[in-house]
Amino acid sequence: MAVKKLLIVGGGSAGWMAAAYLDAALNRGGRRTVDISLVESPDVPRIGVGEATVPSINHILAVIGIDEIEFLKRVDGTFKQAIKYVNWLDGQSDAYYHPFNRFQSSPVDRTGRKWLMSDRSIPFAATVSAQPVICEHNLAPRMAGHWDFGPPLVYAYHMNALRFADYLCELATARGVQHYLDHVVAVDMAENGDIAAVMTKGGKRLEADLFVDCTGFTSLLMEKELDVGWVDCSQWLLCDRATTMHVPYDHHYPGYVRPYTTATALSAGWVWEIPLQDKRSLGYVHSSAFLSDEDAEREVRAFEGQHAESLDSRIVHFKVGHREKAWVRNCVAIGLSGGFIEPLESTGLYLSDLASLMLAEHFPYHDDTTPLALRFNRIMANRFYEILDFINMHYCLTRRTDTDFWREVRRPERMTDRLRAKLDYWRIKAPSVADFEDQWFPGQTESPLPSGGLPGDHRSSIDTASIFGIDSYEAILYGMDFLAAECDDWFGKDRPATRVAKTIADRLALAPRKLPPHDLWLQRVLGMPDYPVASGSKV
Ligand SMILES: Cc1cc2nc3c(=O)[nH]c(=O)nc-3n(C[C@H](O)[C@H](O)[C@H](O)COP(=O)(O)OP(=O)(O)OC[C@H]3O[C@@H](n4cnc5c(N)ncnc54)[C@H](O)[C@@H]3O)c2cc1C
Repeated sequence: MAVKKLLIVGGGSAGWMAAAYLDAALNRGGRRTVDISLVESPDVPRIGVGEATVPSINHILAVIGIDEIEFLKRVDGTFKQAIKYVNWLDGQSDAYYHPFNRFQSSPVDRTGRKWLMSDRSIPFAATVSAQPVICEHNLAPRMAGHWDFGPPLVYAYHMNALRFADYLCELATARGVQHYLDHVVAVDMAENGDIAAVMTKGGKRLEADLFVDCTGFTSLLMEKELDVGWVDCSQWLLCDRATTMHVPYDHHYPGYVRPYTTATALSAGWVWEIPLQDKRSLGYVHSSAFLSDEDAEREVRAFEGQHAESLDSRIVHFKVGHREKAWVRNCVAIGLSGGFIEPLESTGLYLSDLASLMLAEHFPYHDDTTPLALRFNRIMANRFYEILDFINMHYCLTRRTDTDFWREVRRPERMTDRLRAKLDYWRIKAPSVADFEDQWFPGQTESPLPSGGLPGDHRSSIDTASIFGIDSYEAILYGMDFLAAECDDWFGKDRPATRVAKTIADRLALAPRKLPPHDLWLQRVLGMPDYPVASGSKV
C-alpha cells in the first residue's frame, strides 16, 4: 500500500491532537502508512480557551503514550471529577453536581427510580456517587501513594490548552511529524475539484492526498476554498461571547484547588471557574443580544470580587453550529472549523478528539472515499446533535424568570425537537437505561439532517448516548428538579426518606483518610507552589 500524505493546516489544540493521535494510531510499531505534516501560521494566534475536558481525554493520551504525571506537569493540569451547576434552577443559590463516577446497583440500574419514589430530601447525585461530597471537600481523586480506596474514581483534567498544544507538538515532531511555521496564503485546486496543495507566505507549495482543516473559526479550506456551508444552531443556544479572565494565585489564592469545574448562572449566561496549578480561569459565556461587552465585564468582575478589578479581561466571539459536512472531497474539518457548541459540558476538545479517532478508523487508503466520508459525517453529526440537545436541556429546564435572557431560554421554540420528544416521553415514563439503546422517540420528526445528508442518508440524527447516557441525563434532569410534580401524582406526596447507597456511605466514611486535599496532592506530586492564602478569600 502506498504511503499517503496528510497535511494538517492549523496548529491549535485540534491540529496537534489530530497530528499526535493519527501518527500514533496509523504509524504504530515502526510501520509508516501515512506521512503527516502540519503547517501553522505564526501570525494567527490559537484561540487559547478550552481548559476543561471530559474523561475520554484519557483514551487519546493513552494511545499517544503520554504519562499522566508528565502531562499534568506540562499543562499546569488539575483534576476534574464533576461539574457543579450553581443558580441554574431558581437563581437562589441552588446547586447540583454532574459527577463522572456513578455507582450502579445492577446492570439494570434502578437507582434513579428509587430516588424518584423517595422524598428527594438528598440531592440525586449524592445518592449515586461519592464524588459530590468528595468535591465539596476539595479532595483529589488520587492518593499520593499506592491506591487502596476501591474502584478508581473516574476523572478528567483542567489544563492550559496552549501548553497542551505545545506539548503535543513536541511529542509529534519528535516522532516524525513534519512541522512548518508558515502562513497559508493560497490554495491550489486540482482539476477534479480536490485540493492539490496549499501555498505559503514563505514560498512553499505543500501537497498532500488528504487535507485536515484545523484553522479554527477561519475555516480556510472548508469554508473559504470548498465553500462548505455552516449550519447555524444559535436559535437553541443563545450565547455567542465569552469574557475571560485569569486570576493568578500569586495575586489571589483562595486556599484550595477545586477538583471540579464550576458553572454559575449569571444574568445572561454563565461563568466557568476552572482551577489550574498557577491560576484560576474564569469565562462569562453570555449572549450579546442580552448583554453588552461592558456589562458582561462588570458582571464577571463583581462575581469574582474586588481583587479582580486590576486583572485584564478578553472577549472571545464564537458561533454555535457545524459545517454542513465535516468531510468533503479530500478535506476533513476538525476542531472549530468543523463546528462548536458552547463549552457548558466541556465538549470542544472532545469533538476534536472524536474526529481524530474517526478519521483514523475511516482513513482513506484507497480511491473510493465516498462511503468513508458518509460514515464519518454521519457519526460526527450524530454526536454534535447529541451534545446540542444535552446542553440545550440545561437551559430549557430552568425556572428562572429574573432577566430577559432566562425568560427567553424558557420559550418553547428555544428547545430542539429531539429534546422536546425526550422530555415529553419521560413525563410519561421516567428515564431508564433502555431509552439509550436508540433514542428515537415518539413525536420526533423524520426529516433528514439539517445538512440534508448524502444520498441515502435521510434519517434525523440518532443520539447514540455515546457521551451523555442515562447517568448524565439523570444528573441534570433531577438536579433541575424534573418530574417533581409527576412524582407526587405517581407515588403520592407522602414518600419515604431518600437514602444514600451503603457502598457510597462506606466510601465517604473512608475518603478523608484516603484522599488528600487536591492542592496538597498537586504540591506533593507535581511541585505546585504552596501559595499564601489571600485574606478575605471565599474559602
Ligand atoms: C469560549 C470558549 C471556551 C471553550 N472552552 C472549552 C473547554 O472548556 N473545554 C474544551 O474542551 N473546549 C473548549 N473550547 C473549545 C476549544 O477552545 C477548541 O475546541 C480548541 O481549542 C480547538 O481549537 P482549534 O485548534 O480548532 O482552533 P484554534 O486554536 O483557533 O487554532 C487555529 C489554528 O489555525 C492556524 N491558522 C489560521 N489561519 C491560518 C493560515 N492562513 N495559515 C496557517 N495556519 C493558520 C492558527 O495559527 C492556529 O494554529 C472553548 C472554545 C471557546 C470559544
